[in-house]
Amino acid sequence: MLVEADVMKVIEKMYGPDGRKIIELLLKADNGKTIDEIAQETGIRVNDVRRLLYEMSQEGFVAYLRSQKGDSLWYNYRWYTNTTMLRNALSKRIENVIKVLEERLEYETGTSFYICPNDLSIYTFEEAFENNFQCIHCQADLVEFDNRQIITHLKELLKMLKKYNSLTS
Ligand SMILES: [Zn+2]
Repeated sequence: MLVEADVMKVIEKMYGPDGRKIIELLLKADNGKTIDEIAQETGIRVNDVRRLLYEMSQEGFVAYLRSQKGDSLWYNYRWYTNTTMLRNALSKRIENVIKVLEERLEYETGTSFYICPNDLSIYTFEEAFENNFQCIHCQADLVEFDNRQIITHLKELLKMLKKYNSLTS
């Protein structure tokens, strides 16, 4: 199981210290909190609280319950979270990163790249071929670009993320 300290560190990286403060407050609230309560108890401006809650809800880190205020037309929104929600949201996020990296790895592995020694423009094999292996900006001869290091790096990163994600679920 991923320890809570790690989850909080990632949340702080994604949403800043204010995002972390909000999550910490909501974790302690049994019955959720309204935006005004969160602003009052953390000292974060109402607009920032609203923006952060919205951003965090997009990724499933927080959610709200809506209840009617008595007989009025007004609604109460109480925001909440719990450790399961946080872990699931983080896990989903890591899965997305893995997907992007895997696509990139496939691209890097399946194509050779060419680079202009003057202005460092990068061309795929097809692009270089179409231009007779010359730079379209300065006509210099292109050199084949060694992307083995990028591939190795991507593979290591993927291995690490997959291991990390198997710990969260
Ligand atoms: Zn060039």
